[in-house]
Amino acid sequence: MAEGFTKIVLKSGKDQSLKRFHPWVFSGAIKKTYGPLNEGDLVEVFSNKDEFLGLGHYQIGSITVRIVSFEKTEPDFDFWKTKIQKAWDYRKTLGFDQNEKTNVFRLIHAEGDGLPGLIVDFYNGTAVMQMHSVGMFLIREELAKALKEVLGDRLKAVYDKSAKTLPNKAAIEPEDGYLVGEKAENEVLEYGLKFNIDWVTGQKTGFFIDQRENRWLVQKYAENRDVLNMFGYTGGFSIYAMQGEAKTVHSVDASAKAIDLTNGNVALNFPDDPRHEAFTADAFEYLKDIQDKYDLIILDPPAFAKHRSSMHQALQGYKRINTRAFEQIRSGGILFTFSCSQVISKDRFREAVFSAAAISGRTVRILHQLTQPSDHPVNIYHPEGEYLKGLVLYVE
Ligand code: SAH
Repeated sequence: MAEGFTKIVLKSGKDQSLKRFHPWVFSGAIKKTYGPLNEGDLVEVFSNKDEFLGLGHYQIGSITVRIVSFEKTEPDFDFWKTKIQKAWDYRKTLGFDQNEKTNVFRLIHAEGDGLPGLIVDFYNGTAVMQMHSVGMFLIREELAKALKEVLGDRLKAVYDKSAKTLPNKAAIEPEDGYLVGEKAENEVLEYGLKFNIDWVTGQKTGFFIDQRENRWLVQKYAENRDVLNMFGYTGGFSIYAMQGEAKTVHSVDASAKAIDLTNGNVALNFPDDPRHEAFTADAFEYLKDIQDKYDLIILDPPAFAKHRSSMHQALQGYKRINTRAFEQIRSGGILFTFSCSQVISKDRFREAVFSAAAISGRTVRILHQLTQPSDHPVNIYHPEGEYLKGLVLYVE
């Protein structure tokens, strides 16, 4: 009954990326559509020569179709459940099914797990779903049921947090809430460290799980250092630095709520520890005057560029904050610097950091080149999925 799907035909030559399993169809590639189109519908995509290319969710916008299958199929409950099962099997390969020290991880990473438009983070029994496409949102109940069947007793609750991530053009009125179960334990463990996660009001799904391995690396280098954790949010990097025997740790964030979260998490792990202080301040202001105060600095800003149009400005932003850090970090200092903007490539980010180093005139060596951890997998056919970039630099 494949006739049931509206057909989209691509312009000549625009079929190449789908033939190489890239899961996006851009609006400019479309020649003609046959049939009704509502946001969230499944549509079949064909080449100009009438070859079937893939089946995906239709959406108004520059990415018009997100492919969920490169084979002809009619997705039923088992189709989605099998994808979720495969995502869980992969996490089992990574050891997350029996890791007693870490019970927070990304369970579904959109294109990386063959499920474009869907993010699911697992917080010690609660799965927090974040839908970025209407197609995924419309089948949320099915997805939640499949998650429950795949994870069994391990899963106590499923929380849908899509109201802010769905496109606002859509004729849907998403409201955040529990699809399975109710509010459960919200204290999680990561490498044995405790964090209180607020997925209801927090940023993203509540925690930046993608920095786990990079936080762990900070712990390795923190001993006896004076640490600045800039853009700290929940204080993740600060707590690892303290665990690594840092001399002092300063957390800075522009949001007072983030500072409260940080202080709460520090107290959970290191009650009454005088080594830590948190400040509500703007990064650009704070970095003006830190001359020789720190010998380990972490710069993990929010995505300065969300769209290509703001790329130039974003690169200037990265250059500015990194210049400040290079100019003022103590001799022998270590700088952890990141970009999580998908539209900024690894090379562009490097260039920005390199120019910052050059402006400061310091001698700088690259200790590590960092990215996102393996529970945020990159689909080899979708290189855009590699969004997190980091450099660890030794400043002589
Ligand atoms: N490093 C964090 C994630 C950072 S998210 C972690 O490991 O979890 C980015 C943070 O930057 C947010 O908490 C946001 O409040 C803060 N922020 C945004 N703009 C800022 C600015 N100009 N100065 C300081 N903090 C800022």
